[in-house]
Amino acid sequence: MKVTFLGAAREVTGSSYLVETDTVRFLVDCGMFQGGREAPARNRRPFGFDASTLDFVLVTHAHIDHSGLLPKLMLAGFNGPIYATEATADLLTVMLPDSGHIQEAELQRFMRRRKASSRTPPSPIYTVQDAQQCLSLVNPVQYDKRLEPHGDIACCFRDAGHILGSAILEVWVTQDTRRTKLVFSGDLGQPGRPILRDPTLIEDADVLFIESTYGNRLHKDLPATLDELGQVIEQTLYKKNGNVIIPAFAVGRTQEIIYHLHQLSQQGRLHNLNIFVDSPMATAATRITQKHMALFDDEARQLANWFKAGRDLPNLRFVGSAEESIALNQVRSGAIVISASGMCDAGRIKHHLRHNLGRRECSVLITGFQAQGTLGRRLVDGATQVSIFGQRIPVRASIHTLGGFSAHADQSALLDWVSGFQRPPDKTFVVHGEETAALTFAERLRSDMGWSVMVPELGQSVQL
Ligand SMILES: [Zn+2]
Repeated sequence: MKVTFLGAAREVTGSSYLVETDTVRFLVDCGMFQGGREAPARNRRPFGFDASTLDFVLVTHAHIDHSGLLPKLMLAGFNGPIYATEATADLLTVMLPDSGHIQEAELQRFMRRRKASSRTPPSPIYTVQDAQQCLSLVNPVQYDKRLEPHGDIACCFRDAGHILGSAILEVWVTQDTRRTKLVFSGDLGQPGRPILRDPTLIEDADVLFIESTYGNRLHKDLPATLDELGQVIEQTLYKKNGNVIIPAFAVGRTQEIIYHLHQLSQQGRLHNLNIFVDSPMATAATRITQKHMALFDDEARQLANWFKAGRDLPNLRFVGSAEESIALNQVRSGAIVISASGMCDAGRIKHHLRHNLGRRECSVLITGFQAQGTLGRRLVDGATQVSIFGQRIPVRASIHTLGGFSAHADQSALLDWVSGFQRPPDKTFVVHGEETAALTFAERLRSDMGWSVMVPELGQSVQL
């Protein structure tokens, strides 16, 4: 069996692994690269394999860096089934068309800027229509049910506790009479968090592929993070009369932030909040979240009561049209704007940053991982000036990074999760982490667990 690392090797985006035997070929995830000037070109580059010969695709979760190139795969000739959990399948119905829309919109902006130039504009990698068509290939599967997508393959989706619908994949590959069990961790959630269930413990694997986003870091605990959230909002809204801008993944993080703001209001720590969720995808994702309430833990019942009566409820508005979004840019104070994308490299958040970053009285709250090369990362790293839509914007707003909200397990949670294995996997590949994080975590697995570990390079193939 051969496995090729097509992405998320010594970086956090572009997750995709190609598994091949003499009888079957399939992909685990088909994600977009995000961040950096090269990302668009990397996403555009032809797949290094014949997409039409793939038997099927397994998708761990709906985040675009795990699913975003599925429509491109279809355009390259793939016509087989795409398997994902039911909630992931629902989320993909909003996320893939939204991704197609972002690409069409970026192209239009490019055309406007280059009007005078003779350079031929690139075509979008895929359109909204392509994304819609790709959705017909998606087959929803249930958690914990055995699936046989091929005579030589069985698999099972287990809850990864990362976002709604996220899964760890157990995959059994039969070659002649030999059976090998592969486990793909997907993105693992931080245990003990509200709303989502804890990641499922897996007891055995012959080969493990494990994420390492925070393989070299520990998260601040949640109560400290909530205190900081409350303080920043209080300072900004009540003392400085500015706005609070929160870039957030439309799926997962947005719902979590709303939940915490609601809690802080109910506890009397914050008052009269005006929250604007400016992301059509977040609005749709919130609806899907409510539909799949059964997947959540007990605390999530409170989440279901968001819109119900209560004391001092925040005023929560979902912004729909582009006109409403633009109108929001004129609001000078008192607003909390939650918008996507979470890494500030696409979507409506860029407009909100353009209007608020230059204002000393405003705050930006960073609540998720910011990949290298993204606008969000430059803000976290303390840039004093950034470029948005070709315009130079000074950074005068205060930038706060709230690490405790992460949807990813930190180093100690990752080590707890691997200690669930009853015997060491024959081979472990550390993926989905920037180089330092991946190498540090690999070293911990060797030293603490005595495991045989490798940190693959992008494009590398290994024989198993
Ligand atoms: Zn993810």
